[in-house]
Amino acid sequence: MESILSVKNLQVVFSGFKALKGVDLEVGDREIVTIIGPNGAGKSTLLDAIVSKSPVAAGNVYFQGKDITNKNPYDIARMGIGRKFQNPNVYNELTVFENILLALKGTHGILNSITAKLTKTKKDKIIDVLDRIGLLGDAGTIVSSLSHGQKQWVEIGMVIAQDPSVVLLDEPTAGMTPEETHATGEIIKTLARDHTVVAIEHDMEFVKQIAERIIVLHQGAKLAEGSVEEIQSNPKVVEVYLGR
Ligand code: ADP
Ligand code: MG
Repeated sequence: MESILSVKNLQVVFSGFKALKGVDLEVGDREIVTIIGPNGAGKSTLLDAIVSKSPVAAGNVYFQGKDITNKNPYDIARMGIGRKFQNPNVYNELTVFENILLALKGTHGILNSITAKLTKTKKDKIIDVLDRIGLLGDAGTIVSSLSHGQKQWVEIGMVIAQDPSVVLLDEPTAGMTPEETHATGEIIKTLARDHTVVAIEHDMEFVKQIAERIIVLHQGAKLAEGSVEEIQSNPKVVEVYLGR
């Protein structure tokens, strides 16, 4: 399997505290990888380090074979790694359509997107994104009136509007109803036809719904890795995480 994203012996240290103690991760093109583990395990730090939001103390991150360790986060985004954070970061006063428009690759900020002519290509692209996130019928809805779950989908839409090869999602179902959580799983599975997805997740039902491979982090290190069945029957995982 050819890796699109490759993490080797990654270490992150916060004023003496080792948040990541040498983690390896290989992600194949269009694969869905889920990262689970107790609070404080280093899950968010791993995604942060991949996109240089946290400094890498040792080890390397490779994207499409290129070393991107500690590169400028904007360059990493432009190269094709999109990152969604835990809390939705959307424009509440604008419509769903306008939010996606603002995120489109090459739009370069609010002024350009307002003044630029909305070409058919751009419009088609936005419609395609809205369709993927299940909000085509809400294109004209003001984002503030959406549910929490729908706002999370808008933000996923804003990430994929930039055409990343790899999409990193930090707890995409946080605060969602079970129905929204399930719908998010279907959105992610559709996403993975064109994108590689790495998602941090707590909800095991959701993990079972989407994951092709699971990585378990514990105290800054990889505890286990495998299929849903392998992880669920792994005694170490049951002890530190699933058994609680
Ligand atoms: P998870 O996402 O698995 O819950 P995190 O990656 O957020 O865990 O955090 C891992 C550990 O690193 C925790 O002990 C947390 O307190 C610590 N940590 C995370 N970010 C920082 C930071 N910016 N400064 C200091 N410590 C941090
Ligand atoms: Mg976290």
